[in-house]
Amino acid sequence: MYAKNVWLDADETKKKAIFDFGKEYIDFLSNGKTERMATKEAIALAEAAGFKNLDTLTEIHPGDKVYAVNKNKNFLAAVIGDKSIEEGMRVLGAHIDSPRLDIKQNPLFEKGGFALFETHYYGGIKKYQYVTIPLALHGVVYKKDGSSFDVNIGEDKDDPVIGITDLLIHLSADQLQKTAAKAIEGEDLDITVGNIPLEKDEAGACKNYILQLLKDKYGMEEEDFLSSELHAVPAGPARDYGLDRSMIAGYGHDDKVCAYTSLRAVLDAGKQEYTSVVVLVDKEEVGSIGATGAQSMWFENVVAELLYREGKESNLAVRHAMTNTMMLSSDVSCAVDPIYPSANEANNSCYFGKGVVFNKYTGARGKSGCNDAMPEFLAFIRKAMDDNNLHYQTSEIGKVDQGGGGTIAYILGNYNMYVLDAGIPVLSMHSPMELVSKADVYEAYLAYKAFLAA
Ligand code: MN
Ligand code: MN
Repeated sequence: MYAKNVWLDADETKKKAIFDFGKEYIDFLSNGKTERMATKEAIALAEAAGFKNLDTLTEIHPGDKVYAVNKNKNFLAAVIGDKSIEEGMRVLGAHIDSPRLDIKQNPLFEKGGFALFETHYYGGIKKYQYVTIPLALHGVVYKKDGSSFDVNIGEDKDDPVIGITDLLIHLSADQLQKTAAKAIEGEDLDITVGNIPLEKDEAGACKNYILQLLKDKYGMEEEDFLSSELHAVPAGPARDYGLDRSMIAGYGHDDKVCAYTSLRAVLDAGKQEYTSVVVLVDKEEVGSIGATGAQSMWFENVVAELLYREGKESNLAVRHAMTNTMMLSSDVSCAVDPIYPSANEANNSCYFGKGVVFNKYTGARGKSGCNDAMPEFLAFIRKAMDDNNLHYQTSEIGKVDQGGGGTIAYILGNYNMYVLDAGIPVLSMHSPMELVSKADVYEAYLAYKAFLAA
């Protein structure tokens, strides 16, 4: 069903399913704010569903449920299909990193009687959105002896939070003359973390107090920050939004909402003709580069490992598997904002409540950087949607020359597989409080399942 309202077509049973699924997603999002946390959540869900770590298996057979993890930041789950993997897979891919503030390698300093952390923003943010909101600290610290500990501060209601101050309105005459891009400068995104001096009231005393805390709690030295990976993210859980509870407000819908729906589709779909795969990657917000981004060899390596366990060792089998594969590159899409409709062209935009969105292309300017999906594949997907009475819509990223964006679609397209951008409409994308429609979340989950079975 093209561009129809999900709510209007939903009976009470479907509405209940929409709200129940929303609850489960809220848990995943609240506990999976960073790529490492989301990977842990994915492993737990997969193991609970009977999936086994691929490393522990020497053979695979139709119906087997397996998962693989890369460097604690990427996750893949697969249900082995009736056909050989060489004949192709049905792949759902999404990213589990989200824009945030990364703590620098030499973060801790003291200024004006406060201890502060230096940060470097990760991904695209409007910097003014990150001041005067409660932030939580997540990540991992490795010591030279190889031991490590996780940091998770600011989510529990008894935890302290941290944050970035802003100048009071009373004295902001100069600041308010600046453009929105310059009102808060990147180098001023310093997080206030303490105000108690360790001993005497002298320079560095508040920093020393924080260092003492870190030593007492974690056995951590200041130099251990050098081998840490810490992130400041909006604190607190995702929650219902709207007086009708039709939406979910949360940090990191981009792209955990597609990651979760894709993951659940593979966990729940059961054995299909083709092997069902979900792959969750890191670093999309900074270009998909490196060992844990979509451009990594990892996905291809896992496919080779799967084929090896099918008894196929040739490199050619990997090439065949990739070429024969169909993929939905699952990432959020920009919904039309009722307050800012002029950013979009109405006939080629997506709306809350109308289901999963297919973007034939993304990109910027003259479609630069896009994966322009093949109409052959779009027709295949339309049939899968209509055969299952699913709501879907199509969109591009805003009106021509307004801006743009990209996804991981083109990277997997490089393997010569059919790839189409698919996802869920989001409002306030990349802000500390993004919004999605529960109806779209559930409909996307159903759409992904239908794709796996098509
Ligand atoms: Mn995204
Ligand atoms: Mn994004």
